[in-house]
Amino acid sequence: MSHSHGEARFCVRCGGGLAPRRVEGKTRPACVVCRYVVFEDPKVAVVVMLTDGDRLLLVKRSREPGKGHWALPGGFLDSGEDPREAAVREALEETRLDVEVTELIDIWAEAPALGGATLVIAFRAAQRGGELRASDDAADAAFFALDALPPLAFESTRRAIELMRRA
Ligand SMILES: [Zn+2]
Repeated sequence: MSHSHGEARFCVRCGGGLAPRRVEGKTRPACVVCRYVVFEDPKVAVVVMLTDGDRLLLVKRSREPGKGHWALPGGFLDSGEDPREAAVREALEETRLDVEVTELIDIWAEAPALGGATLVIAFRAAQRGGELRASDDAADAAFFALDALPPLAFESTRRAIELMRRA
């Protein structure tokens, strides 16, 4: 399976040059030599919404993208990984909390960012154990009241919080 993104310049099959070509209703990179077409797959990310009363758990990003800003715990799915298991894994990695996914909030596509389109799956979760401590790519982790949120890192963070407010 090819996983080329917008920046690919050469064909993964023959090394020929890529040029835009209209294929199945969309302009896609295609090889000028062997006609191989690059279909860009979305990268799938999960985010976790864990509340304590009316406060929401956020993590401060220690790396780009969004370094220094706050986001929901989450990250990209590994190939073949169950989305709910990915949500539990990411929450544990970033906050050391054991969580259980309780509800699917929504799924949406985001504008292409950082090497490809992204499909975001937002889950609500409940804490089952662990003690809050930032780790992995989180510089800090804390609960915030919805009317006193810190600077947010991503559009997906804002969107998920908006969905939660309306629920
Ligand atoms: Zn080719």
